[in-house]
Amino acid sequence: MDLKPALYGRDPEELRKFAQEKKIPAYRAAQVLEWVYRKNIQDFKEAKNLPAELCGLLAKQFDLNSLSEIERQRSADGEAVKFLFKTRDEALLESVLIDQQGRRTVCLSTQIGCKIGCVFCASGKGRFGRNLEAGEIIEQAAKVQRATGAPLTNVVFMGMGEPLDNFEEVMKSLKILQAPWGFGFGARRITVSTSGITPKIIEFVRHSEGRVRLSVSLHSSRDDKRTELVPINKRYGLKALVGALGEIHGKLKREITFEYTLIDSVNDSRQEAAGVARIAKPLRAKVNIIPYNPIEEASFKSPS
Ligand code: SF4
Repeated sequence: MDLKPALYGRDPEELRKFAQEKKIPAYRAAQVLEWVYRKNIQDFKEAKNLPAELCGLLAKQFDLNSLSEIERQRSADGEAVKFLFKTRDEALLESVLIDQQGRRTVCLSTQIGCKIGCVFCASGKGRFGRNLEAGEIIEQAAKVQRATGAPLTNVVFMGMGEPLDNFEEVMKSLKILQAPWGFGFGARRITVSTSGITPKIIEFVRHSEGRVRLSVSLHSSRDDKRTELVPINKRYGLKALVGALGEIHGKLKREITFEYTLIDSVNDSRQEAAGVARIAKPLRAKVNIIPYNPIEEASFKSPS
């Protein structure tokens, strides 16, 4: 498939280079990025202060829509809207908008499928497809914002995929989300969630200077149980994970959150609760308890 390069994911340097090659004044590069990232256009013709000739050239050179919306579903309580997008190579991915208590949070996917294989997660059951490009990651936020017509307040990397398993593209997408020439999101309004790839957590904190929020999927305070639920625990066990979190704790500007999917008769005992507290307390971490949401592919039950 011979595709035009996507415009989402470009940075000022790339656009300046393009302007130079085409003998376009350099200030136009900044204008193009502003229309794309800040003003959220979906057609170059919407860029009012750009000459028609430049709009035509941009349309010829770049693709502004590498994702197309296939389906939109609102939850029964109306607080969540699920978007199904198709990539240019026909892969499907989901993004979710959660509109709750004055916050409009978008949950982004970072991969097609996921290699981690958490037993309670539908994304981990299918075949792994590929990493999403930075542009495809941020285009989800742009498309959701545009479709619902109101600005987003928060961005979470908690959709399909393990963000730290697609490190380079996720870091690039974080840069564009935060940059003044990009979306201009404050780092404290962005959360990256991981199943616990320990070395990558350390790299992520160094890379983001501890500013972007970190969320870690815990799901059990016992190694044997956690390995059953989150197979990566076999490679990076609790000792390594908690040790790494202790190491970076002082460098983080925000508190760590542990995600804990509560499953009936699996990880909902008092001993587990005490174990989680033992892990979370020294790190002053918050624990987010999520009642298990049944999926067809697993026989677990929601907690009472
Ligand atoms: Fe699902 Fe996240 Fe686990 Fe991947 S890491 S299988 S997306 S819960």
